[in-house]
Amino acid sequence: MVPISSCIERLRTLDRVERIDCGRFERLLSLDRFQFRQFQIDLHQNLRLYPHNHHAFLAIAVKDFRFLHPFACVINYIYIRGLHFGQTIAYKMETINLTIDNITEPYRLAVENHYESFILHRFNGDHKFANSLIGLFITIPVYWIVGTAYTFIDIYQWPKFILKYKIQMDKSQVNGKDLRRLVKQVLFNQILGISLGVSFQWLQVNHILIPQSSTRIPTISRFITEWISFILIREVLFYYTHRLCHHGYLYRHIHKRHHEWQTPIALAAIYCHPIEHAIVNTFPVLIGPYLMQSHLLVSNLWLLYTVLLTLNDHCGYHFPWSLSPVFHDFHHLKFNVNYGILGILDWLHGTDKIFRKSKYFQNHRIYFGLTPPSDYSKMN
Ligand SMILES: [Zn+2]
Ligand SMILES: [Zn+2]
Repeated sequence: MVPISSCIERLRTLDRVERIDCGRFERLLSLDRFQFRQFQIDLHQNLRLYPHNHHAFLAIAVKDFRFLHPFACVINYIYIRGLHFGQTIAYKMETINLTIDNITEPYRLAVENHYESFILHRFNGDHKFANSLIGLFITIPVYWIVGTAYTFIDIYQWPKFILKYKIQMDKSQVNGKDLRRLVKQVLFNQILGISLGVSFQWLQVNHILIPQSSTRIPTISRFITEWISFILIREVLFYYTHRLCHHGYLYRHIHKRHHEWQTPIALAAIYCHPIEHAIVNTFPVLIGPYLMQSHLLVSNLWLLYTVLLTLNDHCGYHFPWSLSPVFHDFHHLKFNVNYGILGILDWLHGTDKIFRKSKYFQNHRIYFGLTPPSDYSKMN
């Protein structure tokens, strides 16, 4: 095996390194095809140890697609573009936030040590298995426990004092037939989502998709950068795939199912056609941690956040201190508005105009009193 450090030393001497093709690299490093492939994999696993050489590493590590399946080529190409952009911002932020990172380093190390010993003692050090299990727990039990708690209020219309937080006050009827159909579809989608997650991990473990998860708990600045990237990546992918789903044929055959719930309830968050669940719901959530090579703990935190957020967005209640679900609730009420999650792209494309003119817009914020900003019962 060729030591990475000696290859890196040679690469340091090169200018405009990203413009050099793979063949020239192979000759320069005196590697045969197999060694070059091993080098690529090693480089990816150690990418974060050498932040100053990002451009060089990315160029060599991902440009050689010759041994990969065409599908993997496309994914890895998206990866190099996304990571190139993401890593540049991350590196700049890390430089700016060096002081904060230095101060918080002992805490980062403490989290890392606790986490490592937990995985070692409970799961024999098998990180992938441990995190798959945690992912499974978030995807199924957390969804059902939290979702059922919200839905309980809808079914029994109790406790009464909570009903003033209901957004579409006059239309909250849940019947057994709809609920049974919902449960079957949601369970099917959850199994599909888990299968996609497991397949994704399998592709990584077998190096078909080159980028691997980081083995280090991130610094604070790195964590913030990753989190912002996850949110923005999901926003872009969700907005456009969701908007596409509202076009004639796709709406009739795929997305209409999700809109059967004009007054959404929490458990209907992933009540949709399986194709929609894979492309609109699952893919935009998985791709962020993958592009950013996030630690598995961070990926699972993100998964937990997205599950709780989507339940909140569909729950139909706007509680004090919580993120506002009014934006997506209004999408279910009026259909061809508010396609995104944050609302940035809706604002850019003007797809939130009706929402902005409506009374609901006044209430679209976090509030801290016990009564909603304006009375929902007078809005319908
Ligand atoms: Zn929805
Ligand atoms: Zn929709």
